[in-house]
Amino acid sequence: MLDRKFILQNAELVAKNCELRGVPCDVDRIVELESSRLEKLQLAQELNRQANEQSKKISKAADDQERQQLIAKGRELREQKDAAQKECDRLESEILAIQMLIPNLTHPDAPAGGEEDAKQLSLGATAKPEFDFPPLDHLQLGEKHDLFDFEGGARVAGSGFYFLRNAAVRLDLALQQFAICFLSERGFTPVATPDLALTSVLQGTGFNPRGPETQIYSIENTELNLVATAEITLGGMMSDQTVMDEQLPIKLCGLSHCFRTEAGAAGKASKGLYRVHQFTKVEMFAFTLPEQSDATHEEMRQLECELFDALEVPYRVVDTASGDLGGPAYRKYDLEAWMPGRGEAGEWGEVTSTSNCTDYQARRLNVRYKTAGEKGTQFVHTLNGTAVATGRAIIALIENHQRADGSIAVPKALQPWMGCDVIQ
Ligand code: AMP
Repeated sequence: MLDRKFILQNAELVAKNCELRGVPCDVDRIVELESSRLEKLQLAQELNRQANEQSKKISKAADDQERQQLIAKGRELREQKDAAQKECDRLESEILAIQMLIPNLTHPDAPAGGEEDAKQLSLGATAKPEFDFPPLDHLQLGEKHDLFDFEGGARVAGSGFYFLRNAAVRLDLALQQFAICFLSERGFTPVATPDLALTSVLQGTGFNPRGPETQIYSIENTELNLVATAEITLGGMMSDQTVMDEQLPIKLCGLSHCFRTEAGAAGKASKGLYRVHQFTKVEMFAFTLPEQSDATHEEMRQLECELFDALEVPYRVVDTASGDLGGPAYRKYDLEAWMPGRGEAGEWGEVTSTSNCTDYQARRLNVRYKTAGEKGTQFVHTLNGTAVATGRAIIALIENHQRADGSIAVPKALQPWMGCDVIQ
């Protein structure tokens, strides 16, 4: 969420930014509502003052008749004050509802436009494979090695759910172990997070479980929701907390299941494991000082590159365009892995995403830092980045590492966790 004062003082800039990001928001309405709210607030304060004055006069009344008149007048003033205060509160809720929809500001170097305007920044260390045989897609490889059961998943939980089997289970666990160890060695504290979170925590991190295009599964008649990412739980873990500046940055890597309704995603290239309702993810998350967030964002991007280089998967890094940033991100980089079985002759597919959310989530979650010897507190910055989302990583791994005899090579980095160098 942007600061209210900032919105009011920079209404034109904020409206332009909403336009750049393709988010329809009535910024002028906030300005209007805020001026009505201030009027009502002043009126309530004035009526309160008059009512108090009236009360003081009661003890000095000359007779009972005057006392009764003063009491009645005082009551009338308090009723008017309550009505003005109620209107003031209603306006505050209306302003807050619009304020919550306004997206974060946009990094000046982020490309303008939609999904297709993302700018390629670099390529990974591994070249695209050149097969001297017709390569199989992950579903065909899955059939050959008995790796996935989508029919069984659909019988149990509906389409978009699946069972992993045999080497796919080991790959899934190996990827989690590998990513967690990799990040632990680089200063990230591993955290296994709850898979459920309160609606207020989702809203704090910029997800809207009650919104029309929600991706969130909510549990009826409760305030609980299945999390779409550990970004939600890791951000929420520090809500309403204040830390000392020397404690920052706090770097975490969270392990959680991720649940997404994928509403509105029908028709997008999404066969097999690519777009499912449940997957497992190791997520980086950081709370930083404002001046640390750009560097931490670059660090997260670099770590994602190192992880996928170690997995020997070809990828490109893209700078996400303004219209595809969502609400909280100030800037976002995606890694897109080469998936030989996607589309007609292979396609890039997003495997990771890292965002600098500046103070947007911290303001909503109320996460602050304090500097010794200074008055007051400031909002921290928050950042998140996928280390590995196991479903899509499995697609990229098995499609790129397949061999002519149908076996699948296990990259060196995963062999200790898989206990083998090939899936036969
Ligand atoms: P996000 O949290 O939306 O930035 O997604 C992080 C990563 O999770 C993506 O880069 C994908 O690798 C993976 N992912 C997102 N949505 C899905 C899905 N519906 N099915 C499988 N993997 C997904």
